[in-house]
Amino acid sequence: MPEKVVIIGSGPAGWSAAIYAARANLNPLVFEGTVNPDGVHMIPLGQLAYTTEVENYPGFPVGDVFSFVRSAVDSSREWNFPDAPEGHTKNDKPHYAVQGTELMELMRQQALNFDTRAIEDDIVDIDISSKPYKVIRRNGETVETHAIIIATGARANYLGLDSEEEYKNKGVSACAVCDGGLPFFGGKELAVVGGGDSAVEEASYLANLKNCPQVHMIVRRDEMRASPILRDRAINNPKIEIHWNSVVDEVLGDGKEVTGLRLKSTVDDSTSELSVGGMFVAIGHTPNTAFLNGKIDVNDKGYINWTKSFRTDTSVEGIFAAGDVADDYYRQAITSAGTGCMAALDVERWLTDKGVA
Ligand code: NAP
Repeated sequence: MPEKVVIIGSGPAGWSAAIYAARANLNPLVFEGTVNPDGVHMIPLGQLAYTTEVENYPGFPVGDVFSFVRSAVDSSREWNFPDAPEGHTKNDKPHYAVQGTELMELMRQQALNFDTRAIEDDIVDIDISSKPYKVIRRNGETVETHAIIIATGARANYLGLDSEEEYKNKGVSACAVCDGGLPFFGGKELAVVGGGDSAVEEASYLANLKNCPQVHMIVRRDEMRASPILRDRAINNPKIEIHWNSVVDEVLGDGKEVTGLRLKSTVDDSTSELSVGGMFVAIGHTPNTAFLNGKIDVNDKGYINWTKSFRTDTSVEGIFAAGDVADDYYRQAITSAGTGCMAALDVERWLTDKGVA
């Protein structure tokens, strides 16, 4: 028997779609993704798995989140619970905004509580040449399904320099929140490339680390794309120095680790050297759509096109998209969750129209 709906992806969009599909008795099957060698399909639990505190997800004000998460999520997932952030206590209890991984574990648990089935594997291709459709797993097995929700999210971009590639995991990273606290970076001045909200968040995170003496933001224009409140946070932070009108021309190192950056002025092409022990790239994202192999229409940046106004339909009937894989504009956990819910409702109506559900 074909599945009614397969959901590909396990970020806020995927789990929200699963919660709604499960409660509509569609018995959804979620492919959660794996940390795979090419890293290009999806990230288990989505990008929030790389985030610390999430202060803007409605319903999660600062509180004793620590106890709540551990009371709600199956203890078999304990390995994935982050430590409570240091120093965040009230009445001797952990007291903080929900952390990204915790929020995702809660969503995952909520979906499983309604009989969602979850498989830790990637989908590497889809076959839409006949119905029911097929999704192809990394191990080559296929799963037949009437409908598909694509919620594979997006991943970080890099600058594309050979020297950047050479020093990945030797001081070059695309996630300060994941890597900035590692002993490797301790005591070193660090650079963040980019001028968007993510870059400011990453720079602020690093500046907050006790053993990080100075953060340098490399911004290619004379203004930042970041929202005013975040931009001002960076500008007013004494531990953050902003290098305006600058791009990274080369990552410098001694073969073992990053020792600095050669910066180039975007005004007069002059170059200068900046001594840092790490470079965090925060210049936007690329959607995880490569596995679709051109079978679904995408825009010029590779994001899936929603083909109907305020609906999650794609160019192929019965295939719906939710979250950052189709949204290069809002890109928030709450908007991803919202479109995940929409996709499940769209699937339910489509299956009913087709006489499947
Ligand atoms: P973004 O808004 O697209 O910003 C990318 C930044 O990187 C821009 O400053 C861009 O410069 C720069 N950049 C791009 N390519 C570059 C290159 N090759 N060399 C140097 N700089 C380069 O991406 P984002 O910061 O990841 O944010 C994505 C979305 O998520 C946004 O909508 C953002 O508002 C949202 N977000 C929100 C929050 C929050 O609300 N707390 C946190 C994170 C992200 P230009 O400006 O010159 O193009």
